[in-house]
Amino acid sequence: MPGYDEARIAPRALATEAVHAGRDDLARQGLHAPPIDLSTTYPSYDSRGEAARIDAFATTGAEPDGPPVYGRLGNPTVARFETALARLEGTEAAVAFASGMAALSAVLLVRASMGLRHVVAVRPLYGCSDHLLTAGLLGSEVTWTDPAGIEEALRPDTGLVMVESPANPTLAELDLRAVAHACGSVPLLADNTFATPVLQRPAEQGARLVLHSATKYLGGHGDVMAGVVACDEEFAGRLRQVRFATGGVLHPLAGYLLLRGLSTLPVRVRAASATAAELAGRLAADPRVARVHYPRIGGAMIAFEVHGDPHEVIAGVDLITPAVSLGSVDTLIQHPASISHRIVDADDRRGAGVSDRLLRMSVGLEDVEDLWADLDAALERAQGVTAGRGAPAAAVGH
Ligand SMILES: *Cc1c(COP(=O)(O)O)cnc(C)c1O
Repeated sequence: MPGYDEARIAPRALATEAVHAGRDDLARQGLHAPPIDLSTTYPSYDSRGEAARIDAFATTGAEPDGPPVYGRLGNPTVARFETALARLEGTEAAVAFASGMAALSAVLLVRASMGLRHVVAVRPLYGCSDHLLTAGLLGSEVTWTDPAGIEEALRPDTGLVMVESPANPTLAELDLRAVAHACGSVPLLADNTFATPVLQRPAEQGARLVLHSATKYLGGHGDVMAGVVACDEEFAGRLRQVRFATGGVLHPLAGYLLLRGLSTLPVRVRAASATAAELAGRLAADPRVARVHYPRIGGAMIAFEVHGDPHEVIAGVDLITPAVSLGSVDTLIQHPASISHRIVDADDRRGAGVSDRLLRMSVGLEDVEDLWADLDAALERAQGVTAGRGAPAAAVGH
């Protein structure tokens, strides 16, 4: 980005990058908080120069040198967030979009524009990602397989392999390194929304594309919708060209809020993960709970199945908010079969391990005892509605 000299800066720890990446020029400019640039267009008296810059963008998709041109080609505030996220994921670049789904759509369009319309994917994925691939809305064709079947599923026109780990909503985990190996030269897209770069950096394990619904942990406060793809500069160029042509840009104010969100990402994820691990343990020991899924790598998400009626757990929470989405400072709970994964065909959904009894909880930053008291009351209510007590829960690892 203009005015940066990123190459001068030695590698720094994640916690340091989280508060400094994308802001390295501020002190020299006499600023502390990053400026929000809301301009949609930028004046230039040199239209010959503009022509050359637009030709260069059309060739490589690289961010135009010098001042910005037009909001759809790039925005300085959004670029700060992109720089910071790329640094946290350990990639050359990152390209931000208006939502996670806009980001995934851009990846599919990049590959389709190269004649590579076939996608190999592993369930479960986030419900709408599953739907986008299954419905072929962007002209793609999907083969669903398990990790062991990826290599066999590849075709000459396969443009992408897509996985999530830990997956939404079951928290199933994959060996990303083994999956990347099975992909050969086909780009692997790993949706890292649940783990965040605090717990896992898929690019280090061989994923060429790292997707985030930045709406979740990166923003972290439930007030920004955004998506981002962290990747190499070559793929980033193609993504910027698709973003320019299709218009799914991120608003600069959202870029600002995401940059701010990143600065507390490591602290938020670690604190919420500690609480989630404690709650997962209590749930696993509770006779009202049939199964608990909590990832080996940790994190702030818990999935669990109750012996009672899961709808009564949702109806019974008070402190915890019954709502879809995740990754906010407050704790949310939802029933995937009714909401986040409703759009997936019921047989496909159940086949992917998303049972009708499954609940998905995103643990926030509240006190663990307050959360447990609320969960306990909701579980009691669900238990009361369904007569009889089941066997003690079995903790399910992946
Ligand atoms: C929410 C989510 C998405 C979609 O992101 P939006 O920002 O809602 O478009 C994609 N992947 C995962 C894992 C998600 O949780």
